[in-house]
Amino acid sequence: MSVELRELYQEVILDHNRHPRNRGKIEEPTGFAEGHNPLCGDNIKVYLQTAGDRVEEVRFEGSGCAISTASASLMTEAIKGKTLAEVEAVFREFQSMVTETGEAVEHPELGDLEVFGGVREYPVRIKCATLPWHTLKAALQGEEDRVSTE
Ligand code: ZN
Repeated sequence: MSVELRELYQEVILDHNRHPRNRGKIEEPTGFAEGHNPLCGDNIKVYLQTAGDRVEEVRFEGSGCAISTASASLMTEAIKGKTLAEVEAVFREFQSMVTETGEAVEHPELGDLEVFGGVREYPVRIKCATLPWHTLKAALQGEEDRVSTE
């Protein structure tokens, strides 16, 4: 990855950390889950409003590091308006991007989420980046349990 690209990615992450999108709660969500990453201390709550098989609204609350906050923010932007099948596909793609080993592969279909491709080099940070997604998945499945990345 070029230095310019890396800096650009850093910018996107810092921007979403400073100004998280879709932060807040939904009063009567159709799905809710809470996630915790004990390694870093990240906490996140994901609120969902689905209609049929589509995500109408998604919001999050919580406290965590820049990576987890930016990941949650970008996740909400990426999945709003998508069908559950599309959300599942993005989740799988994201998961494989941050955990794949060997040569870096481009993931243009992930759009801005591609900024997290760099975390694969920092195993501790992978859990920060994937925590919002695991929490989202629990919210979609209607699990009340707390999610832990450990
Ligand atoms: Zn973290």
